[in-house]
Amino acid sequence: MKPSDFPEHIRPHVIPEPSGELIYRCLGCGEEFGIQKLLYTCPSCGQVLLLQDLTFDRLKKTPGPIWRQIFDYRKMLNIPALKGIYLFHEFIGPVMPLESVVYLGEGHTPVVAANARMQEMAGMRFYFKNDGQNPSASFKDRGMASALSYIQYLIGQGHISDVLAVCASTGDTSAAAALYASYLDKKVKSAVLLPHRKVTPQQLAQPLGSGAAVFEIPGVFDDCMKIVEALSENYHVALLNSKNAWRILGQESYSYEIAQAFEYDMRDKVVVVPIGNAGNITAVISGFLKFFETGIIDTLPKIIGVQSSHANPVYKYYLEPDPARRRFEAVTVRPSVAQAAMIGNPVSMPRVIHLVDAYNKKAGRQNVFVMEVTEQDIMDCQLTANRNGHVACTHGGECLAGLIQARKKGLVEAHETAILDSTAHALKFSGFQDLYFENDFPDEYEVTPNPRLVNTPQLICPSDIEHVPEPGKPLTGDNLSYFIHRISEEIANLLELKRV
Ligand SMILES: *Cc1c(COP(=O)(O)O)cnc(C)c1O
Ligand SMILES: [Zn+2]
Repeated sequence: MKPSDFPEHIRPHVIPEPSGELIYRCLGCGEEFGIQKLLYTCPSCGQVLLLQDLTFDRLKKTPGPIWRQIFDYRKMLNIPALKGIYLFHEFIGPVMPLESVVYLGEGHTPVVAANARMQEMAGMRFYFKNDGQNPSASFKDRGMASALSYIQYLIGQGHISDVLAVCASTGDTSAAAALYASYLDKKVKSAVLLPHRKVTPQQLAQPLGSGAAVFEIPGVFDDCMKIVEALSENYHVALLNSKNAWRILGQESYSYEIAQAFEYDMRDKVVVVPIGNAGNITAVISGFLKFFETGIIDTLPKIIGVQSSHANPVYKYYLEPDPARRRFEAVTVRPSVAQAAMIGNPVSMPRVIHLVDAYNKKAGRQNVFVMEVTEQDIMDCQLTANRNGHVACTHGGECLAGLIQARKKGLVEAHETAILDSTAHALKFSGFQDLYFENDFPDEYEVTPNPRLVNTPQLICPSDIEHVPEPGKPLTGDNLSYFIHRISEEIANLLELKRV
C-alpha cells in the first residue's frame, strides 16, 4: 500500500524521520557518552552500557492507540528499510536514516500455535515464535541488523572507515555478524572467534560461506570472549558481541512483534526465553518496558528465563530471594545441548540485574522468573515439539521444559498463554538429534534416549535383488520392474499397508 492510501491521521507518521537523541549510559557510574564513537564498555569505569533516548518522553505524547495504528499500517508499506526491525523505528533506533538501514529479511518471524497434544503436555495454551526463520536462522540477526545499520550510518557520516568487525560466538552470533558484514562488501570486513569443536558444523559453515576470517580457539566461549576483549582494547576493531548495546536495541524488536501479534493485549501472557550471555532477556525486558511506558501495552507480560543445569549462573543468582544478599558468581560450564547458551559468565548480567529490578517495580510484583532444567528435559521437549509440527531448536526445547517447570511450581497458571522463543532453527542443532537417535551422547551430557522419541532411517534392499540402480547406471526392462516390485512390497509389509 502507498502512504497516500493511508488514513489522514496516520500519513504523517507512517514513514519515520530521524529523530531523538541517543546516548550510551553506563550501568555502573551513570556517566553518559555520545554515539559518534563505537563504545562497548564505559571509558570511566569499564561497566556495560545501554543506549538511551534522552528525548524518549516525546514518544508518550502520541497516544498508545495511535502508535498501534502506526505500526499496524506500517506493516502494509513496501519499503524494505521498514520491513524488518525498523518497523518500530522510533523505539529501535530513532536517529537512523532509512538509507542507512541494512535489511536482509530479519524479523516478523512466525508465531505458531501448539496443537492440542502439546497444550496438554504443557497444561496450557502456548505458541512457538520461530526466530530460527530469520536469514541466518537465529534471533541474532535482529541485533546484527541494528549494529550493522549503525556502522553503515557512522561510515556515511565519515566518523569511521575500513571497519573490521569482530566477535566471539557460540556459533550464531558469528553466523549473523558475517552475513550482515558481507552485505556491506568492502566497507566492513569481519572476523569471528569460535571455541574449537564447540559449535555445530552448520554454524561453522555459515561464517565461512559469508567470507569472514574464521578463527577456532581452544577452550569454551568464555575464553574466546576474553581474547576478543583484548583485541578491542588494543586495536581498532568494531566489537559485535552483546557488549555492543546496538545489538540489544535491535533485539527489542522481538517484544514489539509479540505485542503486535497479540493485538497489544499482554494480559495473561508469559514470554519464555533461554538465557546464555543474557542479551536476549535484557532486550525482551527492555522492549516491553518501553511499550508499557508509552501506553502501547497496558500490562507487562510475565517473563521466564530458562537455563540448563549445565550453565546456570543467572538461575543461581536469583535463587537468593533477598536482593540485598544476592551475589553473582560465574560458573564453570559443562557440555550442553543448549550449546548457544553454554555460558558461565554472561556479559549482560549487570543489564539483567538493572532491568529485572525495574520491570518488577513497574509491574508492582515479581514478574520475571528464572527456571533451571535438565539436559534430558531439553532434548525430550525439543523432539516432542518437532514431532508435533514445530522446527524448534534445542533452546526452543529448553523453553518448553522451562514452561513445564514453571507450571509445576505454580508460577504460571492454566488460563495463561505462553510464547516460547525457538531462538534458532532445528537444523542448526541436528547433530544433537543424531546423538539422541543413535544413543551416542557422551556421558557428561546426561541424556538417555526415550525409545518412543527415537527415529532412524531403514535401508530397504532385499537380498534377492541382484541389480540395483546406481548414479549414471539406471535399471531397465525386467531388472527395473523387479526392483520396483520388491522394494514397494517390502515397504508395504513394513508399513502394514492394505491392498486396494
Ligand atoms: C545466542 C543464543 C542464545 C542465548 O541468547 P543470549 O542473548 O546470549 O542470552 C540462545 N539460543 C540461541 C540459538 C542463540 O544463538
Ligand atoms: Zn561507568
